[in-house]
Amino acid sequence: MKCLECNQELGYLDHKHSIDVLGIELCDHHRIRIERLIAQNGTSLEAIQLYYGLKKEGVTGMLEWWDGKKTIDIAISRVKLNIEIDSAYDQITHEQAMNNLEQVMHSFKNGFTTIRIPHFLIKHNLKETVFNIIGIMDGLKNYIKVI
Ligand SMILES: [Zn+2]
Repeated sequence: MKCLECNQELGYLDHKHSIDVLGIELCDHHRIRIERLIAQNGTSLEAIQLYYGLKKEGVTGMLEWWDGKKTIDIAISRVKLNIEIDSAYDQITHEQAMNNLEQVMHSFKNGFTTIRIPHFLIKHNLKETVFNIIGIMDGLKNYIKVI
């Protein structure tokens, strides 16, 4: 097992600890960096798992990307795609739903497409979620070429 960030070979304990804490394989150094990000931004584990799921397939996004108005969970700038992970659909208020819609509108005006992904899809269907996002990226690439 290797660190998903730097390819360093992981020992049994480092590997186990990283999987226990984050659900992904990272060396001590990179695990601590991600733990710091979580502490600072309240980043969800699902956002991190999706980020590394995409990275494994060769897609490099930006975690906790500031778009000038708010922080986007994952942004893939070359196809202008914002990915937001929804943590709890059932607990969303009217106000939050309206805020979400307004954010989507602002991003769209800047040429960015926003997709919202429920956290349980990442938990249970990470691979399929990643492949669908790659499909969306392909579609956006064609769309960008057309305009
Ligand atoms: Zn590493």
